[in-house]
Amino acid sequence: MTAKLSPAAGQYYSSSPYREAFDITYPQENLEGEMYQYRCKFCKIITTDINGRLENHAADCEYRLSRAQ
Ligand SMILES: [Zn+2]
Repeated sequence: MTAKLSPAAGQYYSSSPYREAFDITYPQENLEGEMYQYRCKFCKIITTDINGRLENHAADCEYRLSRAQ
């Protein structure tokens, strides 16, 4: 590979939280009384703990199981 990337592009990728596979398509629900807190509708783990990673859902989470097939 001899293709040149601009320094700006490199910075973007090294600092981006999206450089790894991101999975945020699971059904979410708002936490009662917590306007900006959401959790997985199936395993009830909050989105900031899941952090876009399928493996952060509960092992028996319905969504995780459906994606793991
Ligand atoms: Zn889940």
